[in-house]
Amino acid sequence: QMQGSSGREEKIFVSVRLRPLNVKERVKNEEADWECINDETVIYRSHLSLSERSMYPTAYTFDRVFGPECCTKEVYDQGAKEVALSVVSGVHASVFAYGQTSSGKTYTMSGITDYALADIYDYIAKHKEREFVLKLSAMEIYNESIRDLLSTDISSPLRLLDDPEKGTVVEKLTEETLRGWNHFKELLSICIDQRHIGETALNEVSSRSHQILRLTVESTAREYIANDKFSTLTATVNFIDLAGSERASQSLSAGTRLKEGGHINRSLLTLGTVIRKLSKGKTGHIPFRDSKLTRILQSSLGGNARTAIICTMSPARIHVEQSRNTLLFASCAK
Ligand code: ADP
Ligand code: MG
Repeated sequence: QMQGSSGREEKIFVSVRLRPLNVKERVKNEEADWECINDETVIYRSHLSLSERSMYPTAYTFDRVFGPECCTKEVYDQGAKEVALSVVSGVHASVFAYGQTSSGKTYTMSGITDYALADIYDYIAKHKEREFVLKLSAMEIYNESIRDLLSTDISSPLRLLDDPEKGTVVEKLTEETLRGWNHFKELLSICIDQRHIGETALNEVSSRSHQILRLTVESTAREYIANDKFSTLTATVNFIDLAGSERASQSLSAGTRLKEGGHINRSLLTLGTVIRKLSKGKTGHIPFRDSKLTRILQSSLGGNARTAIICTMSPARIHVEQSRNTLLFASCAK
């Protein structure tokens, strides 16, 4: 069950996905140093000297961990489904993929979006008593600049506006009413193309940018459609493929940080702060307004909204620093 037992009613569901070693790592004779020893615990194996070992707590526990043998369907079923599907009952939700570049964020998130959409269509087919409308938007945040991934006009970045009723809205963001599964897949391929167009112009876009796929689900009870506006439920689920977590690396020395200032990602850093505060049940100031990403997601984070974070990591020894950072982030979020 994805409901947590902590004091907060809706705690963030945090899982970790350890991918298999890839070919590049294998040819370098990399070894898989990380291992899932049960459904909740990932450990760092002790190929290290004793002094090195003391630097790394070896066992990390989360709501769920997925080893290299797990398929994306399992990750979805046990790490995202319940949160994502809350949208059909009018509850806002966000599902994040967090991890260093090439750890499996896009691989995981694209599978999860497909499974979630399929389940939502399945749910709609079984609930004829309500009439559903699905709307899809997609955007990319790169260097605190927002781009519409469903529009071919990439000339001007989108602005954020404060709407007294709706909160923060992305001005002129394309919102397509879905005509069905095939239409959804068509729009996804437009997104992928749009992302690649940016990629040829600017190197490393995918490691530096956040992609948000946003689905709004409206439903109205058929028998009240004519006269009862209160029978309409509207909620949004966001699927967020985050920039590579090395962009928020806390391990950089002050000098390096200065030199590589451009590599530090404000939205990712702010998200980390926001998530840490939310997961501790903090009620005071939460700095949503400090970055574009957190402003856009504000209504879908905290409060009654549901959140799942899937932290992806490589098992390879060369990535131990980044993997450890990912697990620290994950620990702070749960
Ligand atoms: P990221 O988005 O974090 O940079 P990707 O999702 O692009 O990483 O994954 C990097 C590569 O590893 C891709 O070729 C992807 O297909 C592969 N990959 C990632 N996760 C898995 C997995 N769990 N099983 C098999 N291959 C994976
Ligand atoms: Mg990616």
